[in-house]
Amino acid sequence: MSLPIQNQIKCPTCSQSDRIILVEDLYFGLIEKDQKVVARFSIQPDQIKPLLRDIKPPTLEKLPIWLIIPPDIFIGIIIGIILLLVVISGMQQGFDQKYAFSMVLLLVYLIFRRYLNAQYIAKKNEREKEINQAQKAADRWSSLFICLHDMTVFSGHSNNFFAITEFQNRIHKGFPLDSTSD
Ligand SMILES: [Zn+2]
Repeated sequence: MSLPIQNQIKCPTCSQSDRIILVEDLYFGLIEKDQKVVARFSIQPDQIKPLLRDIKPPTLEKLPIWLIIPPDIFIGIIIGIILLLVVISGMQQGFDQKYAFSMVLLLVYLIFRRYLNAQYIAKKNEREKEINQAQKAADRWSSLFICLHDMTVFSGHSNNFFAITEFQNRIHKGFPLDSTSD
């Protein structure tokens, strides 16, 4: 980990440079209780938890599995499981009863297939957009510095800065004043 006394960088609020650290280095330093961070910046034990909460990196919400698997594969797995259960259970009925449920399920699926596939593609596109946005948020996150004198957060790429209380909001919505954001 490149730790870092960012002497050349000055805080846009207090113009001091001795308590500036990359948000990323601060976050992982606190997680690991790295003394190079905790002792160097005299961070008190009761400050750690709120700090970690304020500067936590962006996360991607997980979609339920049936929105990630293509419908054809999903129905194939379901019917496969049902057929396997039928075979294992050694049902004594004739062919019709044995496989009737799977057949009905397959027919119902074929009726709704076009609709389900359209839904799947829409969800998939939405998912790709979310991943893209999360990637941008992660890039923003790793470009930020924080001044521990006054808890000012600022971008390494622009003159934009804000208070730590706005951190989560800014990470997810972008920096309106930042010329490098979209
Ligand atoms: Zn400052």
